[in-house]
Order: sequence, then structure tokens, then C-alpha cells
Amino acid sequence: MSTEHRALRAAVAAIAKDFGPRYYAERAAERRPCAELWQALGDAGFIGVNIPEAYGGGGGGLTELALVCEEIAAAGTPLLLLLVSAAISAKMISEFGTDEQRKTWLPGLASGTSKVVFAITEPDAGSNTLRISTTAVRDGEDWVLTGTKYYISGVDEAEALLVVARTGQDERGARLSLFIPVDLLLPERQFTLHFDGVRVGPGALVGEEGEGFTQVFHGLNPERITGAALGVGIARYALTAAARYARERKVWSEPIGTHQGVSHPLAKAKIETELAALMIRQAAWQHDHGLPAGESSNMAKYAAAEAAIAAVDAAIQVHGGNGLASEYGLIPYWGLARLLRIAPVNREMILNFVAQHSLGLPRSY
Ligand SMILES: Cc1cc2nc3c(=O)[nH]c(=O)nc-3n(C[C@H](O)[C@H](O)[C@H](O)COP(=O)(O)OP(=O)(O)OC[C@H]3O[C@@H](n4cnc5c(N)ncnc54)[C@H](O)[C@@H]3O)c2cc1C
Repeated sequence: MSTEHRALRAAVAAIAKDFGPRYYAERAAERRPCAELWQALGDAGFIGVNIPEAYGGGGGGLTELALVCEEIAAAGTPLLLLLVSAAISAKMISEFGTDEQRKTWLPGLASGTSKVVFAITEPDAGSNTLRISTTAVRDGEDWVLTGTKYYISGVDEAEALLVVARTGQDERGARLSLFIPVDLLLPERQFTLHFDGVRVGPGALVGEEGEGFTQVFHGLNPERITGAALGVGIARYALTAAARYARERKVWSEPIGTHQGVSHPLAKAKIETELAALMIRQAAWQHDHGLPAGESSNMAKYAAAEAAIAAVDAAIQVHGGNGLASEYGLIPYWGLARLLRIAPVNREMILNFVAQHSLGLPRSY
């Protein structure tokens, strides 16, 4: 790891530690965003570390953004919206947006003052993106959006929403396009969105009409890599807490960490975590160098989610009854680790990908 990357890790960790797991757990319980942490990271230039310098970002790539994700999670403060706003939306807008869209959105995304969330999931489509039914229909110069999205994170915190909609049909199924309906300021938290003929101007189309499928797939690797980085960070956080507890807790004469039944699950999870971290480095490097990164991004996401679940589960077990006590704060990370097995892409779809593309087996779905 380079000196710059070590310095980046240390600087991000220092900010995140000032907030720490207690702050995160309180916010999770209150279901309030970690706005102060987001802003502190934005002020220091870490939220937009992957955004081009011309738009106020750090000019780095996914390698740097993944380090940010790992370090904040390792400090007990994993921020889910980094996957959405910083990874996928910023990537789509910088790569496929018009000059106008870049100027409008990237500086705020870089400084952390605005967020653009991402809406692809629908009740009747789920993992099968080509089945989405939200439509964008031309009406003169404008587009009219109709349909329902659900499980959309951070809508209450966002200035805008990047919406994947159907603009036609081709041999693969839907022809998809990306839209930014602007000035989305909602008074309350909302995760299910109903678009009932929402009209957006011509400037809301991001990239080429009908090319949304290809564009979205371009943005999914960053989401998978940053998701994996959050997983690795959560795992490191849980393992640090578990090892500390196992060194200190004595119920017979020696610390419980002396027993291999306690130490081996932690050691196994540690190995799996660091292997996942290596795969993240490879995936981010390939992505940043314009090389195919689908296989490595999927593998990194798979390995990191499994490592995070194993690490948090082992940490809860080591803590005994305290593992479930809010004072020890492990349960919020369990939920997030478990989520990472399902989203942004579920474990089974990754296994499908690897079976088909890495091993040349027949497509199963
Ligand atoms: C907390 C949270 C935040 C989220 N944030 C966002 C967001 O910001 N934006 C957004 O667009 N979406 C978001 N999502 C949605 C998330 O991306 C989806 O839940 C995920 O992609 C899986 O889709 P689904 O829930 O419809 O599962 P389904 O597609 O219904 O799949 C259910 C299960 O079936 C299995 N399965 C499905 N297909 C296959 C197959 N072909 N082969 C083998 N097994 C299969 C898998 O085990 C899968 O877990 C979020 C979800 C959650 C829970």
C-alpha cells in the first residue's frame, strides 16, 4: 500500500473515530441520518475522493473510495449512502452526464453538501432489472415518469434521485434510461416511491436514451466494490471488539479467548476478511484502469459479505448475552452485514454469475 493510501486511511479513521459506534448506534435507533459525519468527511474531501478535480473532487478512483468505505466501517460508522451517492450516482453522472449535469451535481456530491440516491429496485422486478416496469415516456421535450420503486435508501436526505426507467423494448427486454428528477425535497423518510406521471425536462436524461442497461451495469461494479469495502470494515470492527472482549472476559481462570472454540471462529473470520480486502484492491484497480472488473467485483462483494456475517456472528457469540445488549452495540452491524448478502446484489446472483462467466456453465435463470 502506498504512503498516500496509508495517509488516507489514517485521516479517514481519525474523523470516523471522533463519531464512533455509540453515535452510529444512536442514529440507527432513532433512524436519523449520520449527517454530521457525512459533512465532516465531505469537508475533508473524502466523500468526493473519486470525483474529478475539475468538479471539486479528489481526482482519485474507486481504490480510494473503497479505502474510505473500509475505514469508516472499521471505526463502527458504516455509511450506506456512500455506495449509492458517492459510488454509483457520482460515477454515472461523471461518466454519462452532460456538462450541465456534471456542473450541477458533482460539486455538491464532492463536498458532501448534496446527495443523489439511486432507484432501480421495484416490487415486481427485484434482481431481474430487465423486468422493471417504471416507464419514461416522451411528451414533447419532456419525459413523464410513471411507476413504483421500493427499498430506495436515503430519499429523505437527497436532493435528487437517479431513476432507472423503461423507455422502450429490445431483444433483451426493456430498453432502459436514466433520469434525474431534480429538487426532490421530501418532508419525511420515504423508501417506496410512486411516480404518477412525474414530468421532467429534457435535461433530466443522463447519458443516451435506451442505453441505461449498459450504463447501469457500468455503475454496478463501483457499488459492489464499495459494498464489499463496507463489509470488510464492519468485519474488522466486529473482530477488534470481539478480540478485546475475549482477552478481557474471564469466567473460569483464564480469558475466554484462550479457548480455541472462541478464538478459531475469530481467526477464520479474520482470514476471510483480509482475503476479501485483497479482492477489493484487485477489483478497484481493474476498474480504475479500465479493465473488465465484473468478475472481481462480484467475488469481492461475495467474499466481503460472507466475511462480515461470519465476523459479526462470531463477535456476538464471543460476547455471550452481552452480544445482544444495546450497550455493546453489535446488533446494528449484524443487520448491515446481513443486508450485504442481499444487496446491492444477492449472493445467489453472484454465484450464478461466477458459474456462468467464470466456469462456463449454462445460464440457470
Ligand atoms: C436496506 C436496503 C436498502 C436498499 N437500498 C436500495 C437503493 O438505494 N436503491 C435500489 O434501487 N434498491 C435498494 N435496495 C433493494 C436491493 O437492491 C434489493 O432488495 C436486492 O437487489 C434484491 O432484490 P429483491 O429484494 O427484489 O429480491 P428478489 O429478486 O425477489 O430475490 C429474493 C431472493 O431470491 C433469490 N434469487 C432471486 N433470483 C435468483 C436466481 N436467478 N437464482 C438464484 N437465486 C435467486 C436470492 O436469494 C434473493 O435474495 C435496498 C434493499 C434494502 C433491504
